[in-house]
Amino acid sequence: MDQLVTLHDKHFKVFISEQEIAETVNRMATNIKTDLGERQPFFLVVLSGAVVFAADLIRAFARPCELDFVKASSYDGTSSKGSVDLEFRWKQNLEGKAVIIVEDIVETGNTITRLYAELQKAGAASIRVASFLFKKDRYHQAHPIDYYGLSIGNEFVVGYGLDYNGLGRELKQLYVLA
Ligand code: 5GP
Ligand code: MG
Repeated sequence: MDQLVTLHDKHFKVFISEQEIAETVNRMATNIKTDLGERQPFFLVVLSGAVVFAADLIRAFARPCELDFVKASSYDGTSSKGSVDLEFRWKQNLEGKAVIIVEDIVETGNTITRLYAELQKAGAASIRVASFLFKKDRYHQAHPIDYYGLSIGNEFVVGYGLDYNGLGRELKQLYVLA
Protein backbone atom coordinates (compact mmCIF):
# COMPACT_ATOMS: atom_id res chain seq x y z
CA MET A 1 0.00 0.00 0.00
CA ASP A 2 2.71 2.50 0.96
CA GLN A 3 5.06 1.71 -1.88
CA LEU A 4 6.88 4.52 -3.67
CA VAL A 5 6.60 4.86 -7.41
CA THR A 6 9.20 6.54 -9.60
CA LEU A 7 8.17 8.41 -12.75
CA HIS A 8 11.03 9.93 -14.74
CA ASP A 9 13.16 11.75 -12.14
CA LYS A 10 10.60 11.97 -9.32
CA HIS A 11 9.37 9.74 -6.48
CA PHE A 12 5.74 9.65 -5.43
CA LYS A 13 3.96 8.19 -2.39
CA VAL A 14 0.37 7.09 -1.86
CA PHE A 15 -1.99 9.98 -1.07
CA ILE A 16 -5.54 8.67 -1.58
CA SER A 17 -6.51 4.98 -1.52
CA GLU A 18 -8.55 3.09 -4.09
CA GLN A 19 -11.35 2.70 -1.55
CA GLU A 20 -11.56 6.43 -0.83
CA ILE A 21 -11.54 7.11 -4.56
CA ALA A 22 -14.45 4.70 -5.12
CA GLU A 23 -16.49 6.19 -2.26
CA THR A 24 -15.84 9.69 -3.56
CA VAL A 25 -16.94 8.84 -7.11
CA ASN A 26 -20.13 7.17 -5.84
CA ARG A 27 -21.00 10.21 -3.76
CA MET A 28 -20.51 12.51 -6.77
CA ALA A 29 -22.70 10.31 -8.99
CA THR A 30 -25.46 10.35 -6.36
CA ASN A 31 -25.32 14.15 -6.12
CA ILE A 32 -25.56 14.49 -9.90
CA LYS A 33 -28.58 12.15 -10.02
CA THR A 34 -30.33 14.10 -7.28
CA ASP A 35 -29.75 17.44 -9.01
CA LEU A 36 -30.66 16.39 -12.54
CA GLY A 37 -33.76 14.36 -11.74
CA GLU A 38 -35.23 13.26 -15.06
CA ARG A 39 -32.84 15.33 -17.17
CA GLN A 40 -30.26 13.33 -19.08
CA PRO A 41 -26.68 14.61 -18.74
CA PHE A 42 -24.22 15.02 -21.54
CA PHE A 43 -20.83 14.27 -20.03
CA LEU A 44 -18.06 16.17 -21.80
CA VAL A 45 -14.81 14.53 -20.77
CA VAL A 46 -11.63 16.59 -20.77
CA LEU A 47 -8.87 14.39 -22.15
CA SER A 48 -6.54 12.98 -21.30
CA GLY A 49 -6.49 13.04 -17.49
CA ALA A 50 -10.24 12.71 -16.83
CA VAL A 51 -10.69 9.52 -18.80
CA VAL A 52 -10.21 7.19 -15.81
CA PHE A 53 -12.51 9.20 -13.53
CA ALA A 54 -15.11 9.50 -16.32
CA ALA A 55 -15.20 5.73 -16.84
CA ASP A 56 -15.93 5.25 -13.14
CA LEU A 57 -18.35 8.19 -12.91
CA ILE A 58 -20.67 7.13 -15.75
CA ARG A 59 -20.88 3.58 -14.38
CA ALA A 60 -21.60 4.88 -10.88
CA PHE A 61 -24.19 7.21 -12.43
CA ALA A 62 -25.75 4.13 -14.06
CA ARG A 63 -28.52 5.96 -15.92
CA PRO A 64 -28.85 6.99 -19.57
CA CYS A 65 -26.37 9.66 -20.49
CA GLU A 66 -24.39 10.91 -23.47
CA LEU A 67 -20.65 11.24 -23.76
CA ASP A 68 -18.14 13.09 -25.87
CA PHE A 69 -14.62 14.40 -25.50
CA VAL A 70 -12.51 17.52 -25.74
CA LYS A 71 -8.75 17.60 -25.51
CA ALA A 72 -7.25 20.48 -23.60
CA SER A 73 -3.73 21.03 -22.45
CA SER A 74 -2.43 23.65 -20.06
CA TYR A 75 0.37 21.85 -18.26
CA ASP A 76 4.06 21.52 -18.88
CA GLY A 77 5.81 19.19 -16.41
CA THR A 78 4.59 20.04 -12.90
CA SER A 79 3.33 23.61 -13.41
CA SER A 80 0.52 25.35 -15.27
CA LYS A 81 1.63 27.35 -18.28
CA GLY A 82 -1.42 29.61 -18.18
CA SER A 83 -2.76 29.35 -21.72
CA VAL A 84 -5.16 26.57 -22.68
CA ASP A 85 -4.99 24.80 -26.02
CA LEU A 86 -8.03 22.93 -27.34
CA GLU A 87 -6.38 20.27 -29.46
CA PHE A 88 -9.67 18.78 -30.60
CA ARG A 89 -13.29 19.15 -29.65
CA TRP A 90 -16.59 17.24 -29.52
CA LYS A 91 -18.43 16.37 -32.73
CA GLN A 92 -21.99 16.02 -31.36
CA ASN A 93 -24.53 18.84 -31.27
CA LEU A 94 -24.69 20.25 -27.73
CA GLU A 95 -27.63 22.56 -28.32
CA GLY A 96 -30.16 22.27 -25.49
CA LYS A 97 -28.10 19.68 -23.61
CA ALA A 98 -27.44 19.54 -19.86
CA VAL A 99 -23.67 19.47 -20.21
CA ILE A 100 -21.44 18.32 -17.38
CA ILE A 101 -17.75 19.00 -17.93
CA VAL A 102 -15.81 16.07 -16.46
CA GLU A 103 -12.36 17.01 -15.20
CA ASP A 104 -9.67 15.16 -13.28
CA ILE A 105 -8.61 18.29 -11.40
CA VAL A 106 -9.41 21.99 -11.42
CA GLU A 107 -6.60 24.31 -10.39
CA THR A 108 -6.55 27.86 -11.82
CA GLY A 109 -9.81 27.24 -13.66
CA ASN A 110 -8.29 28.34 -16.98
CA THR A 111 -9.36 25.11 -18.66
CA ILE A 112 -13.00 25.18 -17.58
CA THR A 113 -13.31 28.93 -18.19
CA ARG A 114 -12.22 28.37 -21.77
CA LEU A 115 -14.68 25.49 -22.09
CA TYR A 116 -17.55 27.47 -20.55
CA ALA A 117 -17.24 30.08 -23.29
CA GLU A 118 -17.15 27.42 -26.02
CA LEU A 119 -20.15 25.58 -24.58
CA GLN A 120 -22.20 28.75 -24.33
CA LYS A 121 -21.46 29.39 -28.01
CA ALA A 122 -22.51 25.80 -28.76
CA GLY A 123 -25.94 26.48 -27.17
CA ALA A 124 -25.79 24.16 -24.14
CA ALA A 125 -28.94 24.49 -21.99
CA SER A 126 -26.89 24.23 -18.79
CA ILE A 127 -23.22 23.84 -17.99
CA ARG A 128 -21.98 22.16 -14.82
CA VAL A 129 -18.55 20.98 -13.76
CA ALA A 130 -17.71 17.67 -12.09
CA SER A 131 -14.06 17.51 -11.09
CA PHE A 132 -12.56 14.65 -9.12
CA LEU A 133 -10.04 16.98 -7.42
CA PHE A 134 -10.15 20.69 -6.68
CA LYS A 135 -7.17 22.89 -5.72
CA LYS A 136 -9.47 25.40 -4.05
CA ASP A 137 -6.81 27.92 -2.99
CA ARG A 138 -5.53 28.23 -6.57
CA TYR A 139 -8.99 28.88 -8.01
CA HIS A 140 -10.07 32.49 -8.61
CA GLN A 141 -12.82 32.21 -11.21
CA ALA A 142 -16.43 33.30 -10.88
CA HIS A 143 -18.33 30.12 -11.69
CA PRO A 144 -18.70 27.49 -9.00
CA ILE A 145 -17.34 23.96 -9.25
CA ASP A 146 -20.71 22.23 -9.00
CA TYR A 147 -19.37 18.82 -8.01
CA TYR A 148 -15.92 18.01 -6.72
CA GLY A 149 -14.69 14.90 -5.05
CA LEU A 150 -11.83 16.03 -2.84
CA SER A 151 -10.30 19.40 -2.11
CA ILE A 152 -6.49 19.30 -1.99
CA GLY A 153 -3.69 21.82 -1.36
CA ASN A 154 -0.99 22.93 -3.73
CA GLU A 155 0.69 19.54 -4.08
CA PHE A 156 1.34 17.93 -7.46
CA VAL A 157 -0.51 14.63 -7.74
CA VAL A 158 -0.40 11.72 -10.17
CA GLY A 159 -2.33 8.50 -10.72
CA TYR A 160 -6.01 7.79 -11.35
CA GLY A 161 -5.64 9.31 -14.82
CA LEU A 162 -3.27 12.14 -13.88
CA ASP A 163 0.22 12.08 -15.34
CA TYR A 164 3.68 13.47 -14.79
CA ASN A 165 5.07 14.14 -18.26
CA GLY A 166 3.05 11.31 -19.78
CA LEU A 167 3.53 8.66 -17.08
CA GLY A 168 1.47 7.46 -14.12
CA ARG A 169 -2.05 7.55 -15.52
CA GLU A 170 -2.62 3.81 -14.93
CA LEU A 171 -1.97 3.96 -11.18
CA LYS A 172 -5.09 2.93 -9.25
CA GLN A 173 -4.35 5.10 -6.23
CA LEU A 174 -3.60 8.80 -6.17
CA TYR A 175 0.03 9.71 -5.41
CA VAL A 176 1.84 12.87 -4.30
CA LEU A 177 5.50 13.89 -4.51
CA ALA A 178 7.45 12.01 -1.80
P1 5GP B 1 -6.41 24.55 -14.67
O1 5GP B 1 -6.70 24.93 -16.09
O2 5GP B 1 -7.65 24.51 -13.78
O3 5GP B 1 -5.33 25.38 -14.05
O4 5GP B 1 -5.75 23.13 -14.67
C1 5GP B 1 -6.41 22.04 -15.04
C2 5GP B 1 -5.49 20.98 -15.62
O5 5GP B 1 -4.14 21.09 -15.13
C3 5GP B 1 -5.96 19.64 -15.21
O6 5GP B 1 -6.91 19.14 -16.08
C4 5GP B 1 -4.68 18.82 -15.22
O7 5GP B 1 -4.47 18.32 -16.51
C5 5GP B 1 -3.60 19.80 -14.85
N1 5GP B 1 -3.21 19.72 -13.41
C6 5GP B 1 -3.48 20.61 -12.43
N2 5GP B 1 -2.97 20.20 -11.24
C7 5GP B 1 -2.36 19.02 -11.48
C8 5GP B 1 -1.66 18.08 -10.62
O8 5GP B 1 -1.48 18.22 -9.40
N3 5GP B 1 -1.19 16.95 -11.24
C9 5GP B 1 -1.35 16.72 -12.58
N4 5GP B 1 -0.85 15.59 -13.06
N5 5GP B 1 -2.01 17.57 -13.40
C10 5GP B 1 -2.51 18.71 -12.85
MG1 MG C 1 -7.61 17.70 -16.93
